[in-house]
Amino acid sequence: MRILVIADIHGNMAALEAVFAAAGPVDRIWCLGDVVGYGPRPRECVEWIRERAGPTTVLGNHDAACLGRVPLEGFNPVARYALRWTMLQLAPEHRAFLESLPEKLVLDEVTLVHGSLRAPVWEYVFTSEQARANFDLLRTRLCFFGHTHIPFVLSEEAARKGEPPSRPGDGDVVTVHAGRFLVNPGSVGQPRDGDPRAAFMIWEPGRGQLTFRRVPYNIAAVQAEMAAAGLPQLLIERLALGY
Ligand code: ZN
Repeated sequence: MRILVIADIHGNMAALEAVFAAAGPVDRIWCLGDVVGYGPRPRECVEWIRERAGPTTVLGNHDAACLGRVPLEGFNPVARYALRWTMLQLAPEHRAFLESLPEKLVLDEVTLVHGSLRAPVWEYVFTSEQARANFDLLRTRLCFFGHTHIPFVLSEEAARKGEPPSRPGDGDVVTVHAGRFLVNPGSVGQPRDGDPRAAFMIWEPGRGQLTFRRVPYNIAAVQAEMAAAGLPQLLIERLALGY
């Protein structure tokens, strides 16, 4: 079984299509939230995720904000501007799908959350200290999360020793057949690790193997769409920087 694991699409349909084309044949798609926010194609991204990942999707903070569940004041000004714009784009059918999403999902030996187990929609997990607190709450062997937009792998053993997470890059394969791990595939639509290529991960439970991948897409075309939509310049520029 090959499972495509994606996070933080953020309305970037070109990146999502590039990821799907590069992933090859997959049996399932799991989505770790933030389908919308920032990017120019929120409707198409919701429709794509609804069709292909469906109920194996968890809610992100931008998705929650578009439903009016959290005050927009909690976001920085450019994110807030993009969220207001995104809310105007979504039809009731798109909101209905986002409304249906849980904050946490357990699929066999994996728990899916957007942020963390401590605060499923909100907490950013960057450090081994944050990871330790979340291992205490983890009831499955593995936890896949997103939200930071940075690929991350850390075993419980390494977290307890205070070791930093690894930051897997394109083509890196990590074997996790024994022990417990927190894992972030990185972001499809707005990477923040300095590599602007779309990030995704293939999970093969039978082999206990995670394969991290990066794929180029037409960033300039997405930037042009964002400019035409009047989205903030800062968001347009950061796509090319991978930050
Ligand atoms: Zn995000």
